[in-house]
Amino acid sequence: MDLDKVIRKIPDFPKPGILFYDVTSIFTNPPAFRYVVNRMAELFALEKIDGVIAIEARGFLLGSCFALERELPLILARKKGKLPGKTVSESYSLEYGEATLEIHTEDLPSHKRWLIVDDLIATGGTLEAVAKLVERQGSTVAGIFGVIGLPFLNYAARIGRYNPKTLIDYQGE
Ligand code: AMP
Repeated sequence: MDLDKVIRKIPDFPKPGILFYDVTSIFTNPPAFRYVVNRMAELFALEKIDGVIAIEARGFLLGSCFALERELPLILARKKGKLPGKTVSESYSLEYGEATLEIHTEDLPSHKRWLIVDDLIATGGTLEAVAKLVERQGSTVAGIFGVIGLPFLNYAARIGRYNPKTLIDYQGE
């Protein structure tokens, strides 16, 4: 599967100078979507994982498929203000802008191993924020997954210790 051909690229979105890698063009292509979910399952097949944390919004779609395949609990890391219950939160900076992610406190028990899933890893700030939440609650990051990696933004400096896995990397924009 040539994922590069499937992934839609939109220059100057959401602001000038950013090349946006749009994974929704994977979701509209069933063989590509199936390939991605199968590869994810293979990459973490030997990993002991107690649950999946999916990051809003495109991470939800990938994380839910993986969680169902492995029959694992799925919890959502949502943008600030969306979750109705008591939450733990972490703020972070994006390749473009600032954001806060929240998780329902009771969904994140301690002493568990979590796989954190998003669509793309740029600076690693988003995944690092969720990893911090996991560790603050006394749990462990079992792995990190993004379909796309942008290693030139040096995400390894933030999340390299979690051995993040990607299916396709782009070396520049
Ligand atoms: P970061 O926290 O810098 O690793 O940014 C990752 C998050 O921002 C992911 O949730 C992505 O969906 C989004 N993102 C950042 N840069 C891009 C990009 N160039 N194309 C598509 N999504 C991006």
